[in-house]
Amino acid sequence: MKKTSLSYYGRYPDEKGKFGRYGGIFAPEILMPALEELHEAFLRHHRDPGFQGELGRYLRDYAGRPTPLYYAQRLSWRLGCKVYLKREDLTHGGAHKLNNTLGQALLALRMGKKRLIAETGAGQHGLATAMAGAVLGLKTEVYMGEEDVERQRHNVYRMELLGAEVHPVKSGSRTLKDAINEAFRDWIAHVGDTHYVVGSVVGPHPYPLLVREFQRVIGKEIRQQVLEKEGRLPSLLVACIGGGSNALGAFYDFLEDPSVQLHGVEAGGQGLRTGRHSASLAAGSLGVLHGAYTRILQDEYGQIETSHSISAGLDYPGVGPELAFLQETGRLKVYTATDAEAVEAFHMLAKLEGILPALEPCHALAHLAKISRRLPPDSIVVLNLSGRGDKDLGVVQKFMEDRK
Ligand SMILES: *Cc1c(COP(=O)(O)O)cnc(C)c1O
Repeated sequence: MKKTSLSYYGRYPDEKGKFGRYGGIFAPEILMPALEELHEAFLRHHRDPGFQGELGRYLRDYAGRPTPLYYAQRLSWRLGCKVYLKREDLTHGGAHKLNNTLGQALLALRMGKKRLIAETGAGQHGLATAMAGAVLGLKTEVYMGEEDVERQRHNVYRMELLGAEVHPVKSGSRTLKDAINEAFRDWIAHVGDTHYVVGSVVGPHPYPLLVREFQRVIGKEIRQQVLEKEGRLPSLLVACIGGGSNALGAFYDFLEDPSVQLHGVEAGGQGLRTGRHSASLAAGSLGVLHGAYTRILQDEYGQIETSHSISAGLDYPGVGPELAFLQETGRLKVYTATDAEAVEAFHMLAKLEGILPALEPCHALAHLAKISRRLPPDSIVVLNLSGRGDKDLGVVQKFMEDRK
């Protein structure tokens, strides 16, 4: 691997699964052997050209990679800088999530596992897991809060059509965090034949490492494509941050290029001052959530607070530990955009480029629109368009009606 003065690649996570003081393994003892087995299997198979070849074939012929790097001319005119969109919205399933679920499902197969489990909030990760499970012939079961099941009937039906079994979770607040608890319980009971597919760069070690490595394909492609088109590296990469997997996947291969600025954009919800947001990096504090030490939204007693965002994919009260670390080192700059700003950016991209984007990357676009006039004139910006907006049309419509 390339060595530079920053020498970041390959150093993190360390042997304890930590990124500086972040990350680690805050998991029940009963899961430690499974996490160790997973780490070992990942290190072994990820290096294996046979595994890489097979994953590469699925990414290309099934998921549709490489996704285009599209020069958005009319958007560039509007914003006053050259903007490329990395079209993860064109990945099979409509978002970057399949890059990760295909990788983990293939790894599970190599480990001799027969069954995948996952938890899902709005259903996007459940859907991506169901796709990977179907195409690789693995039994797939998805935990989903009962309230989310009611709100997301279409995604439940999609998962069922793909052969997955959806378990509504009736405990607690009947949403994502209860589904996560239920998935962990299942894993503990069936660790021998089951792989738990985590959906972002979160959770105990080795998950933040696994998911980052499977999502790095985004940044590797960006690097090659921008060099082909422009003959130089971009000046700025922008991506939205929920758990952080699309951002880290896009950013990772540029960490040691100091000329490339990295901006991560969190959901400011109704505004940071209202307390109704999902900005764990910008406005959270240090604590443990779902197996890792990171920045989280919690009250003064350490109870996890309810996050809020107009986009389901950003609505999570934690963030990947590596992003907390990169923010602390100053390499990653973190910003927020509100619900209203994201919806405005949604309309802007629809009208200027004929693309209906997911509301998640609209937060990144809203941020870019705020700063684009202040960038040096010859700047090249790459915005990671993490998903398409079909899933969000109802939400946008309701937002516009409520505002009248
Ligand atoms: C799930 C999702 C996200 C948020 O997840 P990250 O791990 O932060 O990438 C962002 N965009 C889209 C389209 C998603 O589906």
